[in-house]
Amino acid sequence: MITENLSKIKTEIPNNVTLVAVSKTKPNDAIQEAYDNGQRLFGENKVQELVEKQASLPKDIEWHLIGHLQSNKVKYVAEFVSLIHAVDSLKLLVEINKQAKKHNRVIPCLLQFHIAQENTKFGFSFDEVIEIFESDIFISLENIEIQGVMGMATNTTNLEQVADEFRSLESYFLVLQSRFFKFNDSFKHISMGMSSDYKIAIEEGSTMIRVGSTIFGSR
Ligand SMILES: *Cc1c(COP(=O)(O)O)cnc(C)c1O
Repeated sequence: MITENLSKIKTEIPNNVTLVAVSKTKPNDAIQEAYDNGQRLFGENKVQELVEKQASLPKDIEWHLIGHLQSNKVKYVAEFVSLIHAVDSLKLLVEINKQAKKHNRVIPCLLQFHIAQENTKFGFSFDEVIEIFESDIFISLENIEIQGVMGMATNTTNLEQVADEFRSLESYFLVLQSRFFKFNDSFKHISMGMSSDYKIAIEEGSTMIRVGSTIFGSR
């Protein structure tokens, strides 16, 4: 079914929206099937699982870490991760920068915003991000590149609320872009939308959706 699911979702999303196939908890052969159908971009939410899969699957896969990341685990993924979606503290950015430097690379990152009505979800407020962008520490970090924002909407059947939350993430993105990245094309991603809400997210300006169960089946 993976092959069919993948080709169906590809017909539903516009060309300017990037599909991250979220393969967490799924075995390597499921990922390989998606790979054999042309998918090269996969997302995992746990460091250990990501490291194991990266070691045993094709080397041209781009691996995104989409889940909450603890500072002490950055070192395990720093060599190969192609985008970290859920950066939620300056401390974490400092550590990513340090580990990226060891590998002589720049690690692309997204800042996670708290947009949901649930207090269980991680993420910055808008004011916290402004404070970080204006701090001397942040300005000194040369081995990270902030490529955009990420958020998760409330898990609710109220679709208007979901749309409102995605709209707020897009507006944060646009304000930050005009204020801090006017001459910098690398600030370009709005990572929002999962299996239950990616269609709404795309309507509200998502550039990158993270879809798991719609492709690989329920977990
Ligand atoms: C699991 C997960 C997804 C994908 O969820 P589905 O509902 O299976 O599409 C997206 N984003 C994050 C951060 C996740 O942890």
